[in-house]
Amino acid sequence: MGDEQITQMIPYLKERGLRITPQRLLILETIQNLKSHPTVEDIHRELPYISLATIYNNVKLFVKLHILSELPYGTGISKYEMFQPNHYHVICELCGKIEDFNYPLLKEVEQAAAKLTNFEIEYHHFEVYGICRKCQEQK
Ligand SMILES: [Zn+2]
Ligand SMILES: [Zn+2]
Repeated sequence: MGDEQITQMIPYLKERGLRITPQRLLILETIQNLKSHPTVEDIHRELPYISLATIYNNVKLFVKLHILSELPYGTGISKYEMFQPNHYHVICELCGKIEDFNYPLLKEVEQAAAKLTNFEIEYHHFEVYGICRKCQEQK
């Protein structure tokens, strides 16, 4: 992600009532660039001049504003990514690796839930657990 794309995000952030600071933009840019699902430690490694506490507090705020998703799976250390609905995670039970996959048919679960319960459905959560390729090879 280039600076351009981060600039495009600014209206989105403002819409959520977020004060735009260079630090906040840097944190978001780093999460985008890391692509995998970084922990706060991973983000800090890329931005050693921003304190771990500052990164942690901002990441928590981004989660609250639905800018980031928190993935508290696997190793007990939360990982983060840019919020994107309708994508799912498969989590390695041995090393905690998280990989993305899409499966649009799962959207039907929401329709079924709405029909069966008369709830107005807002979102759903779904995770799959297993053993990743690398851990399979090491077994
Ligand atoms: Zn693994
Ligand atoms: Zn993901």
